[in-house]
Amino acid sequence: MSEQLSGTLATISPPLPLLEGLTAEFYAFCKAGELRFQKCSDCAAWRHVPRLRCGGCNSTSWRWERSSGQGVIYSLTTVYRALHPGLDPKTPFICAVVEMSEGVRVVSEILVEPGQVPEIGTRVAVVFDAVTQEVTLPKFRMTGRQ
Ligand SMILES: [Zn+2]
Repeated sequence: MSEQLSGTLATISPPLPLLEGLTAEFYAFCKAGELRFQKCSDCAAWRHVPRLRCGGCNSTSWRWERSSGQGVIYSLTTVYRALHPGLDPKTPFICAVVEMSEGVRVVSEILVEPGQVPEIGTRVAVVFDAVTQEVTLPKFRMTGRQ
């Protein structure tokens, strides 16, 4: 039996991003409290997730640009049954695709206060959740209706 199967739910950590290459750079900005995306230096297209080439013009020339941190919920679901045992203690939670004002979309968690019911089109703003000493995740809170 594998070591993973012999663990208890309390000992299984939630999945975290692997801090390598461009992904490490993205999360280093998050740790510093900045949401930044790549922006093509040739055609000015924003992109996320981090990658070497522009999907619009195939350029390899780009820079990190700071996001407004503002967006709207493009799609969402409430997770009652986690696909990873490390996320079980968090259930239920709201997983969403947030369309940022820059046009890129980010998959993240919507943090809600009691009584808040986010919907498609709800305006949100980024907040940063330091889930470990190394990893800070961008998450979102509601700021109102669209
Ligand atoms: Zn481009």
